[in-house]
Amino acid sequence: MDTYQIICEDRIYELLEEGKKATKEEVLEIIEKARDCYGLSLEEAATLLQVEDDEVMEKLFDAARYIKDRIYGNRIVIFAPLYTSNECTNNCLYCGFRAANQRLHRRTLSVEEIVHEAQAIEKQGHKRILLVCGEDPKKTHIDHIVDAVKAIYQGADIRRINVNAAPMSVEDFKKLKRAGIGTYQIFQETYHRETYGKMHPSGSKADYDYRLTAIERAFEAGIDDFGIGVLLGLYDYKFDVLATLMHSQYMDARYNVGPHTISIPRLRPALDSALKETPYPVSDKDLKKIVAVYRLTVPYTGIILSTRERAELRDELLNLGVSQISAGSKTNPGGYEEDDREATQFETSDERSLDEMLQVICEQGHLPSFCTACYRANRTGEAFMELAKDAHIHEFCQPNAILTFKENLVHYGSEATRAKGEKMIAEELEKIEDEKIKKETIERLKRIEKGERDLY
Ligand code: SAM
Ligand code: SF4
Repeated sequence: MDTYQIICEDRIYELLEEGKKATKEEVLEIIEKARDCYGLSLEEAATLLQVEDDEVMEKLFDAARYIKDRIYGNRIVIFAPLYTSNECTNNCLYCGFRAANQRLHRRTLSVEEIVHEAQAIEKQGHKRILLVCGEDPKKTHIDHIVDAVKAIYQGADIRRINVNAAPMSVEDFKKLKRAGIGTYQIFQETYHRETYGKMHPSGSKADYDYRLTAIERAFEAGIDDFGIGVLLGLYDYKFDVLATLMHSQYMDARYNVGPHTISIPRLRPALDSALKETPYPVSDKDLKKIVAVYRLTVPYTGIILSTRERAELRDELLNLGVSQISAGSKTNPGGYEEDDREATQFETSDERSLDEMLQVICEQGHLPSFCTACYRANRTGEAFMELAKDAHIHEFCQPNAILTFKENLVHYGSEATRAKGEKMIAEELEKIEDEKIKKETIERLKRIEKGERDLY
């Protein structure tokens, strides 16, 4: 396949140059148009990426808040990463797991240990896990991942497992699909070929095209929910954000399915990183703009924020269009049972526990959701996109968010979280307009109070 059909660097530079020429009025018109929630073109996204004026930026943020609210309501979906291994044969300059790092304590968890980790995560109250691992053909091969997924579903009350793993063959993706994963996530890191080459000097990850085409192989294998992103800080963020959107629009045009999620990881210090400084620093203000531009351009796509960012900024970004966050995370294999800083992939910044996070989310007027109903009700890929694009997904999600949050409060919540959570649930119930759905939700809440689980 000619991968220049997916990412055309010259076109990206051209669009960014054109974007600089827009007048303030033209930029404001684009922001106004985005409020229709039908998304924006690459030309329009490029123009918004060039915004520096504080007053215009505020308008951009306002529109992002408005769109997030219209499409997702005030829900914030919550998950935790589970690292199964930090062994890796690649040498990504920025990563603590890179093969050349002699100081890292290496460990690949057995399937039994993985289930223990999942149980420890569940004990915090989580229902969604993102499985993450290094790439080592002998240690983190597909059978290890598949065995882990199956064992977690059997051994813990975890209801959705998403996977962030190296690109693989169609045959291996089929195995992953059969194991029942939710979203397959893969970050291109940077879409800029030359920088990609420098950052990934050896190992199988050095192959840019094999990585770029991974999602199409996943599709061929029947996995229709995918997540993408770039590692912000490796190259000019304007180029990489626009390239992410180009990739997204390519998938949408060809398969009628855009990304289920876009992640916004920003480069963090890592043990023995080969990068002594961030090549292209992304400021907090830039990061806010990035979230807003994604929200306006692909309104139906979830935006994922991890604990790489510090608490205050995370709280701010929640208001700008982020729809999923991780909480209480550890980035070393076995981390939920034993913290080993010499085994982590990178340093996290937001150390708040899930329980603390739930209180903050409620205080800010958001509704925490542990919902995993969609993929179990076959609302994935194109079916999900159709509902999301028409803003109908809201009708399923709101009651499910309330029910899963209630279940969390009953079984795991501290007294303070329960008090804040119950108040939030009462307010959210009032917002359900359909009387039949409201009545059903109230009945289900009573059943959950009596100990029933997983009602959706
Ligand atoms: N090893 C697989 C791969 O590289 O695709 C699976 C996931 S890797 C462990 C997860 C992601 O962590 C990478 O795609 C990269 O974007 C991110 N990452 C690596 N080093 C990082 C760092 N120092 N700071 C922030 N994120 C980092
Ligand atoms: Fe290995 Fe992934 Fe880290 Fe690269 S980013 S060194 S492939 S774990």
